[in-house]
Amino acid sequence: MATVELKSVSKVYDGGVQAVKSADITIQDKEFVVLVGPSGCGKTTTLRMIAGLEDISGGDLFIDGKRVNDVPPKDRDIAMVFQNYALYPHMTVYDNMAFGLKIRKMPKETIQQRVDEAADILEIRELLERRPKALSGGQRQRVAVGRAIVRHPKVFLFDEPLSNLDAKLRVQMRAEISSLHTRLQATMIYVTHDQVEAMTMGDKIVVMRNGVIQQIGDPLSLYNQPVNRFVAGFIGSPPMNFLAAQVTEEGGKIWIDEGTFKMAIEGRYAEPLKPYVGKAVTFGIRPEDCQYDMKAAEGSFIPTTVEVIEPLGAETHVYVNTGKHQLIARTEPSIAFSVGDKAKFVPNLDKAVFFDGETEEAIN
Ligand code: ATP
Repeated sequence: MATVELKSVSKVYDGGVQAVKSADITIQDKEFVVLVGPSGCGKTTTLRMIAGLEDISGGDLFIDGKRVNDVPPKDRDIAMVFQNYALYPHMTVYDNMAFGLKIRKMPKETIQQRVDEAADILEIRELLERRPKALSGGQRQRVAVGRAIVRHPKVFLFDEPLSNLDAKLRVQMRAEISSLHTRLQATMIYVTHDQVEAMTMGDKIVVMRNGVIQQIGDPLSLYNQPVNRFVAGFIGSPPMNFLAAQVTEEGGKIWIDEGTFKMAIEGRYAEPLKPYVGKAVTFGIRPEDCQYDMKAAEGSFIPTTVEVIEPLGAETHVYVNTGKHQLIARTEPSIAFSVGDKAKFVPNLDKAVFFDGETEEAIN
């Protein structure tokens, strides 16, 4: 069993930078939790507080129900894999993996057995006698993970472990770490700024911004029910389209007026938008929820001009402009228009999300 719980955890660095503000996170046994957010949002600081490498300025941290704020890192039963791997250059792979166990004075046979077992899991047996400089980036990354595995820790912490790898290897290692999680059945906490990594790896994702947790949820609930405009824009690629608009009421219907077009809002948002009549909102629509329909009726579409067409094989990305906002639509591969054409884009209003123009919170 290994649960990790942060209760109102804060970090203020010397000099006054408040890196983490009152974070509440509960990580269940065997869960794979990803902390994600833009650079400087406080994810690494959060991870380092869990590891015991940074003091906690406020709040409480529990591992398996025990408060560990003042427990030194070596006694937390946690292993961390760093972004730069932190391998010892003068030691062989075997010795790099064995080092942490040797300093804990573990019997030689146990060390041998654990290193062999980890080397098998990671398929690096043939590398055990090499030194780090004779390894590829992906192999070094495996050794760094191996060094954590041999410790049989309660919790694995990963700090952007794939960021030094090229794009193709990153995709491969992503899958390897996910299957390692399944195989080891361990609690893992993983930091990344890459939302694709977060979406593909996490059972649960914690989205952070400026030291504040924005939303915690499984990948699809973050994608489909973002709590605010930041989460909506951060999760998803190409990102969600946003259009600033005014809400109006005419002829007994709710409309949005973007400046270059007006569109009637029918369906599930008609009611929640009523209190916003006369106010500013942001209309959010994902690229896959826009289709073009040259026969769409007046008031039901976004009139646009096609600016760029990107055929990707399985789908095509069409960049269009309303005159005020650029939109991206993901459409089927073959499309019936060219750059410069006028196109009627029809958003699926049941999939749209509206945000308060001032607070940027989602309107429900
Ligand atoms: P990145 O993705 O760039 O690593 P991050 O989300 O992990 O970013 P942190 O490294 O946790 O962010 O940093 C959060 C904030 O704390 C930043 O404003 C950073 O400049 C500041 N910070 C980090 N370490 C220290 C330190 N040792 N002393 C003072 N401020 C720090």
